[in-house]
Amino acid sequence: FVGGLFGIYRVTAAQVELSQKKSDFVSSVSHELKSPLTSIRMYGEILMEGWATDEKKKRYYRYIHDESERLSRLIQNVLTLSRLERKEWQTNLEELDPVELVKELIERLSPQVRRAGFELSAATEGNPLPAKIDRDALTQILINLIDNAIKFSKTAETQKIVLTVSQINSECCVRVRDFGPGIQRQQMKKIFEKFYRVESELTRTTSGTGIGLSLVKMLADSMGAEVDVRNCQPGTEFTVRLKGVSG
Ligand code: ADP
Repeated sequence: FVGGLFGIYRVTAAQVELSQKKSDFVSSVSHELKSPLTSIRMYGEILMEGWATDEKKKRYYRYIHDESERLSRLIQNVLTLSRLERKEWQTNLEELDPVELVKELIERLSPQVRRAGFELSAATEGNPLPAKIDRDALTQILINLIDNAIKFSKTAETQKIVLTVSQINSECCVRVRDFGPGIQRQQMKKIFEKFYRVESELTRTTSGTGIGLSLVKMLADSMGAEVDVRNCQPGTEFTVRLKGVSG
């Protein structure tokens, strides 16, 4: 009987905690939507009124562009999470060259990453073979990992992010490395949980909703891929292990 009561208590406590996390999530998403929108509106007004010099105009246009991209990524994350949870996410596995995909992504993201003060580069180890990849899923995974690398190593001495593609036996690995503070060993499993954010000064001063890495994990699962993390002193390295074409 006591065991039963304890069981009920645990289930209830877990549900209360989940509902608290959901409500925190709604408020952090609203906050994340509101603050860039306020800036976009403000810069839009300055531009419309003609108050900016030519040089400032360029900066404001870029700012509006980067902030809208950030908003799109946040909305994309929320939509993907909802699709995955409702089992409405369609996986589309193709035989793709990961080196090519990473190269295209770097070309697309570099200007924005540079404006955030970081250098984004690619490296290849060995001779990576084509793998079974869902292009949208891998792109979203890498964008989330790069976003986090920028967010959490803002004060690092080395402002660099390196994407490495390598082949290990039948698996193709894509690694995302930064040179920031790293992640404590006891947090390494928890960071992939939905809504989980590490309690620290760093997370208090950075914006976030706690869904990025759970999404990374779910998207990897959908491709039959795996994700892990390790500390590199300095920095963090996430690895996505993709199945080879024959695997
Ligand atoms: P969010 O970025 O919204 O906080 P995530 O699910 O993307 O949520 O990440 C969960 C937590 O993992 C973060 O709050 C942060 O503490 C930690 N984290 C993720 N990526 C990094 C990184 N590259 N360096 C250090 N800590 C990280």
